[in-house]
Amino acid sequence: MTAQKRIAIFGSTGSIGTQALEVIAANPDKFTVEVLTAHTNDELLVQQALRFEPNIVVIGDEKKYQRVKDALSKTHVKVFAGEEALDEVAAMDIYDVMLAAIVGFAGLKPTLNAIGAGKTIALANKETLVVAGDIVMRKAAENKAPVIPVDSEHSAIFQCLVGESRNPIEKIVLTASGGPFLGKKPNFLVNVKRDHALQHPNWSMGAKITIDSATLMNKGLEMIEAKWLFNLHPDQVQVIIHPQSIIHSMVQFQDGSIKAQMGLPDMKLPIQYALGFPERLPNTFPRYDFKKPNTLTFEEPDTRTFRNLALATEALQKGGNMPCILNAANEIAVFAFLRNRIGFLDITEMVERTMHKIGFIENPTLDEYFDSDGEARHFAASLIQM
Ligand code: NAD
Ligand code: MG
Repeated sequence: MTAQKRIAIFGSTGSIGTQALEVIAANPDKFTVEVLTAHTNDELLVQQALRFEPNIVVIGDEKKYQRVKDALSKTHVKVFAGEEALDEVAAMDIYDVMLAAIVGFAGLKPTLNAIGAGKTIALANKETLVVAGDIVMRKAAENKAPVIPVDSEHSAIFQCLVGESRNPIEKIVLTASGGPFLGKKPNFLVNVKRDHALQHPNWSMGAKITIDSATLMNKGLEMIEAKWLFNLHPDQVQVIIHPQSIIHSMVQFQDGSIKAQMGLPDMKLPIQYALGFPERLPNTFPRYDFKKPNTLTFEEPDTRTFRNLALATEALQKGGNMPCILNAANEIAVFAFLRNRIGFLDITEMVERTMHKIGFIENPTLDEYFDSDGEARHFAASLIQM
C-alpha cells in the first residue's frame, strides 16, 4: 500500500473545502488531514477539527482564536490565528498536498509559500493564477511543485492531456453553462437582484463564484487560469456555452482530433481526481445515463450582453497587471453586489472603469502585483460611494 497523502485544506469551511472533506472521509486509507483553515466560520472549523483531528487549524479572524482554542482544548490540535499564521503554516513540513480552496486574492500568498516549500498544489483558487500566473507557474517549475487543477474545466483539460505530453495543443475549448441568465438581455439584467443571481442551474458553489458564473466573469477568469496552467497563447483559448454542463471542457490537438472529459456536474469528482492523482479512485457518485433523453447543445457566448467575458479577454490579451486589476475590481464589485450596494450591470461598469484607470505594467514584480491589487480595490471602492 502506498503511503497516505497528508492533506492541508486552506479554506476548509467553503464549498470546495467541505466537499474535499467528504472525499477524504470516504477514502481514509488514502488521505489524512493535517491542516484546516477558515476565515470566520469558527463553529464549522471546530466541528471539522473534532472529526478529522488535524495537526493544525488556523482561524483567520484573530478575535475568534480563544473560542477555537477552548473548543479544541481536549484535543492535540494546535490552533493559530491571523493572516501571517496562514502564510507560515503553508510552508511547514507537515503535509504533502495543499488544497488551495480559499476564495479570491487572499489565497495567493499561502499558495506561493506552499509552492516555495515544494508542495503539490491542488488548485481551486483560480484568482491566484489570474492575479500572478507568471510568477506562480515560474516558482512552481523552479521548486518542482506540481500544480493540479481542481476547477472542473481545467481538470477536464488536464485529464485529456494525460499521455499527450509530446503533443502540442492546437486549442482548448472551455465550456460554460451560461449561468442562470443565459439568453437574457441588458433590459432584464438591469433589475437582477442578489438572491436571483445566487441561483445557479447546475452547480452549488460559494457566493462569489456563483455571482461570477452569472456575470460570465467566472469563464473570463478561467480563460486566464487556463493560459497559465497549460502555457497557451490567448488565441488558443475558446469559450463555448454548453448549458447541460456534461462536457466539462475539451482539447483539440494538431491533427484536429478533439478529446473531451464528461460526467455529471459534481465538484467532488475533480477534487478527488486532484487529490488522488495520478490514481483514479473508485466512488459511488451518480453516473451519467445515456439511456435518458439527453441533448448536448453548444452556442456562442453573447459577449455584448455579458461584457465581463469581453473585458477578461481584453485583460488576457493585454497581460501584465491587467488581469490582476480586473480581478481586484471584480472582487470589490461582487462583494458590493452581494450587499445590495450596486446593481448587476454595475459590476461590469466598475471593472471596466478600473481597468482604464490603473497604470499598466507589462512585467510586474510580486510587489507590483500587490500594489496594483490595492490601487484597483481602492479605486473600485471609490466608485461605489458615488
Ligand atoms: P467559499 O466562499 O464557499 O469558501 C471560501 C473559503 O475561503 C472558506 O473556507 C473561507 O473561510 C475562506 N476564506 C474566505 N476569505 C478568506 C480570507 N480573506 N482569508 C483566508 N481565508 C478566507 O468559496 P468556494 O466556492 O469554495 O471557492 C473557493 C475557490 O475555489 C474560489 O477561488 C473559487 O473560484 C474556486 N472554485 C470553486 C468551485 C465551487 O464549486 N465552489 C468550483 C471551481 C472553482
Ligand atoms: Mg469552473
